[in-house]
Amino acid sequence: MTDTYEYVCRPRTAVYPGSFDPVTLGHLDIIERGARQFDRLIVAVLNNSSKKPLFSIEERLELLRTVTKRWPNVEVDSFSDLTVNYMDAKNGDVIVRGIRSVTDFEYELQLASTNQKLNPRVETIFMMTNPKYSYLSSSIVKEIAHYGGDISELVAPEVETALRNKYKH
Ligand code: ADP
Repeated sequence: MTDTYEYVCRPRTAVYPGSFDPVTLGHLDIIERGARQFDRLIVAVLNNSSKKPLFSIEERLELLRTVTKRWPNVEVDSFSDLTVNYMDAKNGDVIVRGIRSVTDFEYELQLASTNQKLNPRVETIFMMTNPKYSYLSSSIVKEIAHYGGDISELVAPEVETALRNKYKH
């Protein structure tokens, strides 16, 4: 045991940040598994002005609240700050991110290393995708929904309805 890292025994709060535009079954799988590993899991929607989202922050929060309501230790929130600052504000211990591919890994490693530099207190933990969802992304779901394709096995029914309403199918 080194004295570099203080050992703290208390409830662990994890934050799962992302765009969730909209939430897919791949995200939900990570949320369900994350909620089993931590005492509290905050799903945090990043309000990123440089991206042009299909769903507003309010719509994304509402969809996330609906599809995560069965897990009592999961909360849904939004933020428009650096993730590491948000972690301090929420007293979060761990950032959870999902990895689908080697391409995800390269980007996520860069992100995690930057966050480690900015706030060494905060740990990033990666969860491997459920292979069932390794190809699944919000962009792919939007693309299929745009052309009226079947998305019933890719998103929750409430999200499917919301997408149909956006694209008027
Ligand atoms: P961001 O814009 O931050 O990448 P996303 O909503 O696309 O936001 O993704 C949020 C997190 O969820 C990321 O860590 C991403 O790798 C992960 N993720 C997205 N889709 C899946 C999936 N199908 N399986 C596992 N993790 C996923």
